[in-house]
Amino acid sequence: MNKQVLIAGGGIGGLAAGIGAARAGCDVRLFEQTAQLSEVGAGIQLGPNVVRRLQAWGLQKPLQQVVALPASLRVRSAVTGVQLAQMTLGSDAVQRYGAAYATIHRADLQQLLLEALQTYSGVHLNLGQPLESFAEADGVVTVRTRAGKLVEGDALIAADGVRSVLRQQLLGDGPPRVTGHLAYRALVHQPQLPKRLRATDVTAWLGPRLHAIQYPVRRGELQNLVIIVQGPAPQDLAHWDHAGNLADLVQAMQGCCAHLLDLVQHVPAAGGEWRLWPVGDRPPVQSASHMAQGLVALLGDAAHPMRPYLAQGAGMAIEDAAELQRALAMHDLDVHLRLRRYALNRWQRNARVQARSLRNGRIFHATGPVRWGRDLSLRLLGSRLMDLPWLYRGDGSVASSL
Ligand SMILES: Cc1cc2nc3c(=O)[nH]c(=O)nc-3n(C[C@H](O)[C@H](O)[C@H](O)COP(=O)(O)OP(=O)(O)OC[C@H]3O[C@@H](n4cnc5c(N)ncnc54)[C@H](O)[C@@H]3O)c2cc1C
Repeated sequence: MNKQVLIAGGGIGGLAAGIGAARAGCDVRLFEQTAQLSEVGAGIQLGPNVVRRLQAWGLQKPLQQVVALPASLRVRSAVTGVQLAQMTLGSDAVQRYGAAYATIHRADLQQLLLEALQTYSGVHLNLGQPLESFAEADGVVTVRTRAGKLVEGDALIAADGVRSVLRQQLLGDGPPRVTGHLAYRALVHQPQLPKRLRATDVTAWLGPRLHAIQYPVRRGELQNLVIIVQGPAPQDLAHWDHAGNLADLVQAMQGCCAHLLDLVQHVPAAGGEWRLWPVGDRPPVQSASHMAQGLVALLGDAAHPMRPYLAQGAGMAIEDAAELQRALAMHDLDVHLRLRRYALNRWQRNARVQARSLRNGRIFHATGPVRWGRDLSLRLLGSRLMDLPWLYRGDGSVASSL
């Protein structure tokens, strides 16, 4: 009989975990707290390390239909507007890493993963059913839903996000860190923007205590904008997603160049709306046993919530899921050993990406002499500083499936 894998969370991590488990020959019961699977209107960058994994799952065609393929990654000063460095992506990324650097609307990625998951037999989606707790005994893990239903499985994958209740039960390490960074996000219709404000590349604008990222999604029809600022958080940050106030944002961007301010102010006219997210994270786990214990494993943000400054949080969730597939497919091993194998192969890479994301935030937001040194290094070294072979080449775990 197939092993039954229970999954908490229907975000990008949970859906990817479901695909990984189904491809390993397991039955999947996924529990999502919301009644409908829906992602916020925002974008996601997918490095070649992530695109390669999605391709290995046979998702090249549906990806091609919705992604944008930026030709370059540019770094500009948010203060002067001047370009500091550039790295070509497009066919160069394919040449270097065997896959494209793509950008995608979150809802498109979620839909594509959901459709892929539903093509496997033995997959059951349980929407509107939050999981509250789990118990493990005699080689069986039992979850309890908020409605009091008990469901048994052979393994539980907790992909219930940055505020994971299942992680709390497993590790008891308290709430995520409040970083003091706020992410303003908007999606706009490119044709409704003046030509000079449209995006075909990924551009990172670096300024003192803030940065902005813009890139196209959905075949270039939409532009995704993220502005991360530091400063006093608004009230009530316990919730995930807020309406963002344009006047507050413009105030936080004092000193930025006219181009960037112009872009930000065009958002309402181009059909967009500013949303505000507090950025939360956690320090990396200290060992594989913090990522999997017995029949329970953490995946995605539940395992390694990170600052988004390397654009790899969802990417690491998808890498986790690919590794989960490999581990679950080791049919001769007991399930707890398969999960242990999964955690051993993932925790250090996730920790490295978390650490690098944190460091990027410091560099992006630098002030004074550090900012001056950063800009000089970017001008002198350009793409040699921006390219990250250790990240984009991946950990080698899917080399055989390319
Ligand atoms: C501003 C910003 C920009 C980003 N940009 C990028 C980028 O360019 N590239 C990239 O790779 N990553 C990026 N990320 C990170 C990325 O968004 C996350 O890492 C990713 O969405 C995590 O997916 P997840 O499925 O692990 O968690 P989530 O997306 O949080 O999903 C968790 C799911 O679990 C459900 N859930 C919660 N509790 C329960 C429960 N008890 N029972 C059942 N269901 C439950 C939730 O409803 C949700 O659907 C960015 C993040 C931010 C904030």
